[in-house]
Amino acid sequence: MRLVDIPRESYGTVIVGGGPAGANFARLANFDEGKVLLIDGAPKNGKVCGGLISPDAQGVLARYDVNLPTDILVSPQLFSVRTIDLETRRVRYYKRNYLNVNRAELDKYFLKMVPDGIEGITARCVSVKREGQGFLLTVEKSGVRYEVRCDRVVGADGASSVVRSNLFPKKKLKKYTAIQQWFAAEGSDPCYSCVFDSSTSDSCSWIFFKDGMLIFGGAFEAQGSRAAFEEQKRKLVQMGAVGRQAFDSPVRTEACRVVRPTLSGGIFCGDGGAFLIGEAAGFISPSSLEGISFALESSEALADAFEASSDSRKMLKKYKGLTQKLRAKVAVKCLKRPFMYQKLLRNAVMRSGVTAIKLKTQKNK
Ligand SMILES: Cc1cc2nc3c(=O)[nH]c(=O)nc-3n(C[C@H](O)[C@H](O)[C@H](O)COP(=O)(O)OP(=O)(O)OC[C@H]3O[C@@H](n4cnc5c(N)ncnc54)[C@H](O)[C@@H]3O)c2cc1C
Repeated sequence: MRLVDIPRESYGTVIVGGGPAGANFARLANFDEGKVLLIDGAPKNGKVCGGLISPDAQGVLARYDVNLPTDILVSPQLFSVRTIDLETRRVRYYKRNYLNVNRAELDKYFLKMVPDGIEGITARCVSVKREGQGFLLTVEKSGVRYEVRCDRVVGADGASSVVRSNLFPKKKLKKYTAIQQWFAAEGSDPCYSCVFDSSTSDSCSWIFFKDGMLIFGGAFEAQGSRAAFEEQKRKLVQMGAVGRQAFDSPVRTEACRVVRPTLSGGIFCGDGGAFLIGEAAGFISPSSLEGISFALESSEALADAFEASSDSRKMLKKYKGLTQKLRAKVAVKCLKRPFMYQKLLRNAVMRSGVTAIKLKTQKNK
């Protein structure tokens, strides 16, 4: 990708967002018509994310023959999930491995693979509207606003997508406020903890280590999110799931929105020359909030749709067809949700110990 300071007045395609979805789409798509611009307003500390590459995302990377450089990996690598129910105080371990990465470095790595023919700008897209057969975008860089016109727009701008909210205001998505705090830690643990507590959230929280830091994060209803987050911290300390002083001095506190598709809706691929991919489209696991594999798979599907036709309607049809499996995967995860989030069902699953593993060395870590 060739970075520019000032955008041209018009492009064939503009991609808003350079996370895994936008960067992977820009990398794979074959653009026959017109110039392409990728706009990314990268936040200072990178995307608020756990930076865990799940087995599903590893499978996608394997298909792309992508070799992750070791400087993207952080310590420790994770081999199990510790499920903590704050209501019953029950703890279970399950075998599951994640690659633990530096998310900001991962995003840079994907952007590096975008071909030079594509222009990139570090800027925010402030608004998008339809103009004639195409689109008019307002882009802000260092306090200066530019107008950019294009024939097609791809919204890869994540949970708070400007493309989705400006062009399709009726296509609303359920959203949570995700909060994460980083703490200096002495020890480490090759395990990812998934925390459930129906009294503070109908989503989940997580604890894991990253290069000498302990991270605690969770997704909460926007109203009262901070109080719920603090309450979970208090319960975790009280239960002994973390050390007494583990949460004393946060080094960093960060927050953002995260979406959750439901069985009744949420996923929307776009229309009329505007396409949505990744979390902007609602592609994310509704049970675990794992989104990197969904971002990669949906962007690959749109790239294939661009390859197959240059007619926007046919592209959309193809894109919808190619993401059918991904939608089915979301639907299955929606059906699985009650077993994770409904108190009685979760308790029954955890009590049964089905598929759980026993740790030889530690008890109720
Ligand atoms: C706290 C938290 C922890 C998570 N942990 C994990 C995890 O461990 N593993 C996992 O697989 N998933 C995780 N997820 C989900 C995952 O981060 C996302 O689903 C995934 O990053 C989606 O990729 P994307 O490319 O669609 O969007 P994003 O990664 O959100 O990328 C969007 C990009 O668009 C840019 N952008 C946004 N708005 C604009 C604008 N107006 N103008 C210009 N640029 C813009 C942003 O700067 C960003 O670079 C987590 C989510 C949260 C909130």
